[in-house]
Amino acid sequence: MCQACDSFLDRLFAKGVLHETGVDGLYGRGQAFEAVIEGMDRLITRIAANDRAEVIRFPPGMNRALFEKSGYMKNFPQLAGTVHSFAGSEKDHLALLDNIHNGGDWTGGQGATDIVLTPAACYPLYPIVARRGPLAAEGGLFDIQSYCFRHEPSKDPARMQMFRMREFVRIGLPEQAASFRESWLERARGFAETLELPHHIDVANDPFFGRAGRMMASSQREQALKFELLVPIESTENPTACQSFNYHQDHFGALWGIKTAAGETAHTACVGFGMERLALALFKHHGIDTNGWPTSVRAALSL
Ligand code: ATP
Ligand code: ZN
Ligand code: MG
Repeated sequence: MCQACDSFLDRLFAKGVLHETGVDGLYGRGQAFEAVIEGMDRLITRIAANDRAEVIRFPPGMNRALFEKSGYMKNFPQLAGTVHSFAGSEKDHLALLDNIHNGGDWTGGQGATDIVLTPAACYPLYPIVARRGPLAAEGGLFDIQSYCFRHEPSKDPARMQMFRMREFVRIGLPEQAASFRESWLERARGFAETLELPHHIDVANDPFFGRAGRMMASSQREQALKFELLVPIESTENPTACQSFNYHQDHFGALWGIKTAAGETAHTACVGFGMERLALALFKHHGIDTNGWPTSVRAALSL
């Protein structure tokens, strides 16, 4: 066997950093991996400590009716995942077991539940904020986290189907959203430097579906509504987005009816940390064994 020929993912499996499940993009996490994630979570909390953001943690599923209203299926139908469940008779059950036994399709009889898998951590937040009524003059600031699902199976360990996204979301006046994003672009550079990760920041776009989607993607770029912090993981030519900085203008404010104190439609911005991608970037650049990582990086992560 050729150690040097093993892919990064193979080496992560071999050392128990990640555990194979038989599905690309779906992995178990080992102790070292989780220690790094927890260390990063604490570091991010320290960076944002003075902001006094309201903390909310979400389960990996969200309300299907609210997901439908969010417009996600219009923009990213290819990535969505829904939760279906059995609700048939005993006869249906026998047919289902028969299908499983014979390798047939047993999923056809499943019905949609009220839950879909959360595609991005901030999606369940907006309806909660909208329900509270108009914002206070200082607007809203939230510290959220969720497991997210995206149907994009890949051999690239940094493109998972289920992963954690920590986000800060600012809701208020256009200036409040803009200065929030500016300050996080600055903090992100400091964060990557603390972790000694090679990085750069660039404009980006979301993978909007279809021909109309291509126009939305180019307009998003032209208006510089999305930036990413990129770190080489699987490739140097195509570095991986480990953080994103998004300004939605009044899109979510108008959709959910979120109002400022003065009664105007709120603007929103969010910054998302891809926790698994950041952890993988650290394993890639500092080595598979966290004991060998630079002392200052270990200290920053309390390893
Ligand atoms: P990409 O362009 O690489 O697909 P994205 O634009 O879809 O990334 P966002 O929608 O902005 O990413 O999601 C916020 C963050 O979540 C990203 O910056 C990234 O760190 C992380 N992320 C996105 N997709 C994945 C994935 N498939 N696996 C792991 N982390 C992900
Ligand atoms: Zn978001
Ligand atoms: Mg993507």
